[in-house]
Amino acid sequence: MVRKYQVVVIGAGHAGCEASLTCARMGLKTLIITLNADSIARMPCNPAVGGIAKGQMVREIDAMGGEMGSIADHAGLQFKILNSSRGPAVWSPRAQCDKELYSVLMSKSLQNQSNLEILQSEVTSLIVKNGKVHGVKILTGETIDTSAVVLTTGTFLNGSIHLGKMRFNGGRFNERHSTYLSKSLAEDCGLTLGRFKTTTTPRINSLSIDYSKMTEQLGDEKPRPFSHFTKIEQWRKNLKQLSCWLTYTNSKTHEIVGNNLELSSIDIGEVGSKSPRYCPSIEEKIERYPEKTSHHIFAEPEGYNTNEVYLNGLYTGLPFDLQQQMINSIAGLENAKVIRYGYAIEYDYSNPLQIKKSLETKTIENLFLGGQINGTTGYEEAAAQGFIAGVNAGFKVLGKDPLILARNESYIGILIDDITTKGVDEPYRMFTSRAEYRLSIRNDNSDLRLMDIGYSIGLISNKAYKKFKLYKSTLSNIEEGKTKNLPTDENLSPWSLEKANEEVSIHKKYKGYIEIQNKMADKMKKNKDRKIPEDFDYNKIDSFSAETKQRFIKVRPQTIGQASRIYAIKPSDIAILTIYLEKQKQKKRKDVKRNIENKNG
Ligand SMILES: Cc1cc2nc3c(=O)[nH]c(=O)nc-3n(C[C@H](O)[C@H](O)[C@H](O)COP(=O)(O)OP(=O)(O)OC[C@H]3O[C@@H](n4cnc5c(N)ncnc54)[C@H](O)[C@@H]3O)c2cc1C
Repeated sequence: MVRKYQVVVIGAGHAGCEASLTCARMGLKTLIITLNADSIARMPCNPAVGGIAKGQMVREIDAMGGEMGSIADHAGLQFKILNSSRGPAVWSPRAQCDKELYSVLMSKSLQNQSNLEILQSEVTSLIVKNGKVHGVKILTGETIDTSAVVLTTGTFLNGSIHLGKMRFNGGRFNERHSTYLSKSLAEDCGLTLGRFKTTTTPRINSLSIDYSKMTEQLGDEKPRPFSHFTKIEQWRKNLKQLSCWLTYTNSKTHEIVGNNLELSSIDIGEVGSKSPRYCPSIEEKIERYPEKTSHHIFAEPEGYNTNEVYLNGLYTGLPFDLQQQMINSIAGLENAKVIRYGYAIEYDYSNPLQIKKSLETKTIENLFLGGQINGTTGYEEAAAQGFIAGVNAGFKVLGKDPLILARNESYIGILIDDITTKGVDEPYRMFTSRAEYRLSIRNDNSDLRLMDIGYSIGLISNKAYKKFKLYKSTLSNIEEGKTKNLPTDENLSPWSLEKANEEVSIHKKYKGYIEIQNKMADKMKKNKDRKIPEDFDYNKIDSFSAETKQRFIKVRPQTIGQASRIYAIKPSDIAILTIYLEKQKQKKRKDVKRNIENKNG
């Protein structure tokens, strides 16, 4: 008998978990298939959730009823608000996590979820008829019927692992790669695939570290959870935070790496295979910035029940003996013992210009793609897309219009708009600088921006939504100065009066700035047909980064609209370019006027 589901999700990484939970919670009979049921929501790189702009996305997923924030709250071992010395618009929550606990808690969520089944197997091909996906075929030869498929295969498609010059197949270390699916995506679905690569760091034994030579990095004294639904006081009481530690590379480290660059796997691989620019390997850092004599290295615990420590900043594809030498050259790590070596991985991704903003493919109906397969990097970017792909696969099955978030209401909207309109030419990660409306899409107001949407999809319970509505009315009352008879914290919980007062003061602080921001954004939209001279000298603009100059010079856009569609060009770059062009225009006008006046005597 052929098994039948309404949605099949392929892959149980960060994207697949969000997608499958979302579909099941929408009441759809859902199956999630993964190569290895022991590695659900595994963190193969830094065991941390959130960070700059990424933390905002975790809060957005949570506000709409997604899972990542709540799991991170219960698996976190150190919590920090990054950028806390700057304004609340760029505050970004981050949690160092116990990676095993994270995976166990997410697996349990999937196992406990009604309407959701888990199957360990390999999907070998998609069954496509008349331009529409109808099912999947798995390694046993079994076929499974479905109305929609969400594909979230991460780094597994034709994954190949590199450690120095050693090379072997794998989707991650000790996990096999996905062998057959790429062929089906190309031949049955007409998708064009490319190759990207990424690296991870060695892990060492905590007992072999001399912490007296390093600087302790404590978590926040008053930590804040990601999830809007975590009861903060109780949560703080139960939380036992661990420390991270800071040390630095030095001239000896740079000598070891610099003298052996040709032995690293970073340069090998297929032509054009690119690694994340913003998460460079130590080899790339030393090659790119020869003038720098040291780089930060953070030693971060990987869990409560393990001695393994992650060396953040030491991403590498060097051979294992050189990794050991490099580590031992660093203060505090002179006697460090490696438990796992760092490595590089190369994998197939699908060009995101082939998907719509709903994340459905343009070529095959009812086939949705989310996560690293779309050319992004990072757990949060993956979870965000998995959530939206899940909602939209569900909506498609139910005959509803897709959910498309706007750039001015969420980072998730920006991520999807960026990759589907500009494509990617290297792994894409989120930054606050990609957001032209970043003063209004803050981490503190993610509930105000998105919880109504989560409720309308059916992912926020009636009980939680009632509390949220009470919180919103409390905000309005405080804003209007009606502070008598406000609800108690008990009535508001998990929201609180402290949170409401903080929110009102942030609103007040940003009101004027937000008006200016919105005017600037409108002006940018109006300026899209403005011409850029062919010989424009981008090198003249000091405030452009080297990357921005490079990209403008390569494309030489003819209009502001075209310039804004160049991959990795940020709204702030366009604002600077527009101001510069305006100044040039004013100067030309003045020159013409002066010339006429001079001629006239
Ligand atoms: C070595 C390494 C280094 C990394 N470094 C960084 C970094 O520096 N910075 C960063 O932000 N991110 C990094 N990442 C990326 C990060 O792990 C991913 O961004 C994130 O996990 C992607 O989530 P995902 O859900 O898209 O896919 P994954 O988490 O990769 O999950 C993919 C899932 O698909 C399943 N699967 C694949 N093919 C099939 C199939 N045919 N049938 C059934 N199941 C299948 C797998 O079993 C797995 O469950 C790194 C990853 C690796 C492996």
